[in-house]
Amino acid sequence: MKLNVKHLETGRFPEDKRREFSCTVDLGAVRQWGHTPYTSPGEVSGEIVSRLGMMSVAYDVKATRRDPCARCLDEVETHVDMRFSHRVEKGPPPSDNRFDDDTVFTADGVLDIGEMVISDLLLTQERVILCSPDCPELLELLP
Ligand SMILES: [Zn+2]
Repeated sequence: MKLNVKHLETGRFPEDKRREFSCTVDLGAVRQWGHTPYTSPGEVSGEIVSRLGMMSVAYDVKATRRDPCARCLDEVETHVDMRFSHRVEKGPPPSDNRFDDDTVFTADGVLDIGEMVISDLLLTQERVILCSPDCPELLELLP
């Protein structure tokens, strides 16, 4: 989903502007650590707010993923439910990459929600997933 935020862009309206949005984001092609963990699309809902010349976006994303347990390699299903927020700047991003992850950029006044959600999920997922906190090490399971 791509949102036109031109009318929200900084400097054009002194008063608060907000726009709510909700969509699903296809996560089937998202690769992480050699597999495609997401078994459901991402259910996204959030809002874009322009206030005092600053634009920001905040949203919740829910999804289901399956990953191998880091110890026994059994598949573990996890329900992702996370909230992210960013400052929104007119794009494109600076070519020297000197900006922080808290900022997302719009190209021609368009904010690509899917791109933002996938990038946020890739940056935050914990690497070590266990089927249970006391799962034995793989080596202990071998005869
Ligand atoms: Zn395990």
